[in-house]
Amino acid sequence: MGGLKADLSGQVAVITGSTSGIGLELARGLAANGAHIMLNGLGDAGEIEQIRAAIETDFGVKAAFHGANMLKPSEIEDLIGETVKTFGRLDILVNNAGIQHVAPVEELAPEKWDAILGINLTSCFHTIRHALPVMKKAGRGRIVNIASAHGLVASPYKSAYVAAKHGVVGLTKTIALEAAEAGVTCNAICPGYVRTPLVESQIADTAKARGISEEEVVRDVMLSAQPTKKFVEYDHLTGLLLYLVSDAGASANGAAFPVEGGWVAA
Ligand code: NAD
Repeated sequence: MGGLKADLSGQVAVITGSTSGIGLELARGLAANGAHIMLNGLGDAGEIEQIRAAIETDFGVKAAFHGANMLKPSEIEDLIGETVKTFGRLDILVNNAGIQHVAPVEELAPEKWDAILGINLTSCFHTIRHALPVMKKAGRGRIVNIASAHGLVASPYKSAYVAAKHGVVGLTKTIALEAAEAGVTCNAICPGYVRTPLVESQIADTAKARGISEEEVVRDVMLSAQPTKKFVEYDHLTGLLLYLVSDAGASANGAAFPVEGGWVAA
């Protein structure tokens, strides 16, 4: 992590979907600045334990893991409850868990629609409704939702994802208004394409949906929208997250920050 620094010593952060990709890098970025971490996500138990232990070893903070499925409200409640029980506080909530599926709307299975809306949007409602009372009581809190450039603009064949991410941006604004006087901010980060496992699988799906090669998907579909013609790097997101959770970020509230090389400027 070579970006901004923030003093998060002693603070506690929950990052949903932090066993892979962006969530894992954001968790490590918070830990590198002193925050204790509650990891969450799916995956192989042995690999997750390695990820957890590496955070403790690399950064000298405490790291725990909770396997709440973001489709299950009672498990999400338990994730927040266990975090407060384990660490005694909750300062930062990063709603990052997400899935994607690329298909024309008339071929999109209703179950896929429900899963995408459930994991990408509804889970944020559940984490927030349980975390906010804890933050309000403490008089300070930071909620950061990982939306997407697709929270600001659309692309074809991503109806559920675009709807969910626009919903995340709307939820972000509403929570910001409701929590502002309590010292809690809520913002969204809207990344462009980052080369994570989620994007790797999209390359294949998009090639199929559009009938073009995977190479053409990267060059002509994904990066054609990003004026820099480069994937967004993890550090570009971590730097913004650190700003938002720091004291300097206290007046940034209800905003959706694009980090996408200029995509939504077009
Ligand atoms: P990823 O597939 O690498 O990681 C997704 C994480 O979510 C994993 O930890 C996975 O275990 C977890 N997850 C999935 N379903 C879950 C469930 N039911 N319960 C709990 N955890 C679950 O994906 P990523 O690319 O790192 O994406 C992370 C977030 O960033 C997502 O919200 C995604 O929409 C968003 N995003 C990604 C990109 C990109 O280009 N990669 C761009 C914009 C936004």
